[in-house]
Amino acid sequence: MARIVMKFGGTSVAGTERIRRVANIVRAQAAGGNQVAVVVSAMAGETDRLVNFCREANPLFDPAEYDVVVSSGEQVTAGLLALTLQSMGCRARSWLGWQVPVKTFANHANARVGDIEAAEMIAAMEGGQIAIIPGFQGVSDDGRITTMGRGGSDTSAVAVAAAVEADRCDIYTDVDGVYTTDPRIVARARKIKHIAFEEMLELASVGAKVLQTRSVSMAMKYNVRLQVLSSFVDESSPSADTLPGTMIVSEEEMGKLLEDGQVERQVVTGIAHDKNEARVVLTRVPDKPGAVAEIFGPLGDAGINVDMIIQNVGRDKGETDVTFTVPLSDLARTQAMLEDRKEKLGFNRVITDSKVAKISVVGMGMKSHAGVAATMFQALADRGINVQAISTSEIKVSVLIDEDETELAVRVLHTAYGLDAPDEAA
Ligand code: ADP
Ligand code: ASP
Ligand code: MG
Repeated sequence: MARIVMKFGGTSVAGTERIRRVANIVRAQAAGGNQVAVVVSAMAGETDRLVNFCREANPLFDPAEYDVVVSSGEQVTAGLLALTLQSMGCRARSWLGWQVPVKTFANHANARVGDIEAAEMIAAMEGGQIAIIPGFQGVSDDGRITTMGRGGSDTSAVAVAAAVEADRCDIYTDVDGVYTTDPRIVARARKIKHIAFEEMLELASVGAKVLQTRSVSMAMKYNVRLQVLSSFVDESSPSADTLPGTMIVSEEEMGKLLEDGQVERQVVTGIAHDKNEARVVLTRVPDKPGAVAEIFGPLGDAGINVDMIIQNVGRDKGETDVTFTVPLSDLARTQAMLEDRKEKLGFNRVITDSKVAKISVVGMGMKSHAGVAATMFQALADRGINVQAISTSEIKVSVLIDEDETELAVRVLHTAYGLDAPDEAA
């Protein structure tokens, strides 16, 4: 017997028919004698619809009221799954964020998970009841409903798994694991059987939306056994324990798998893209000490996350251009802040471009291999793709390119690093 947290994403619960399939998967786990908690997303498209309602009601919406609206999608699917399980003769009940409670802190619309007081829920699970928890939602210190940022149900699931000390946390989604890149872009993407936490964290943070970044860091911190699986299985499929998904493992476990020859170390493990960045260029910024601090200090104070930064070589007149990227959703705010401070900063113009994409290659193997970035630049150059900005970390290289070239760039790089699955026709 095990204690398991199962999470089902938006496509997996889109409609009562799909919720019935999910209920069958959950029932099979419970029937195997396991204690089960289930975290659900809103139906696919529902959160976008709710976000749009907020924008229509008030473009400058209050994040606390936004949370009241957008958290409702998860409440619906949690109730429907409980009802469906009950119709199958299972004992199940929903536990809303404030009922568990899932305590959160910091900003509305982007809250972070704090303590989860799971004693009552654990007692219910030990008594044979299936606990259904709406993902994405929590409760603030002052008792108001909060949400955890887009894709936050993954983090809810890992947080619940840590709180109930689950044996594993299974993330069921619309693909059957983590691939070398988004399988919807590259048909020859390969499924990765085991991936190290650090690599998954980096991939998630640069746009591989299969897991929310915070869910990976939380799983790493609390040592939650995390796997990604498909919910699109038929009744005759084997149980989740034996389905071939992707296991997210510690560096130590990865080391053992490498030693046993069960995993082959690639220099690049995966490629991700992110179209949610925008480029900002400040022209003719005074080339003097403290100039960039004056630009980026206030942006940081305003919670705007600046990612890639380039400062051009200074011109004759003691001036330089500064290029950087910010999340697309913060572009208008960034532009307004810079225009407001134009005189103080002494630059000439702000030029913005929202039609850019960041392409990143990630792999632990980079620590010990040179030339990864050179391969990237050459492969892109061979296809005439212009690189507008570059950033690197120990296990990642990212480039900024024209958004229209995203798919081409991902495909070209996937081939360049030898990640393509063998041609089936060959
Ligand atoms: P859910 O609603 O289940 O949370 P998401 O849409 O958030 O699902 O995440 C699953 C999607 O992530 C897949 O449909 C796929 O298009 C995308 N994706 C991006 N990168 C990857 C990757 N490297 N491996 C698998 N899926 C990926
Ligand atoms: N429903 C939320 C979203 O679409 C949370 C989630 O699905 O993880 O972002
Ligand atoms: Mg998701």
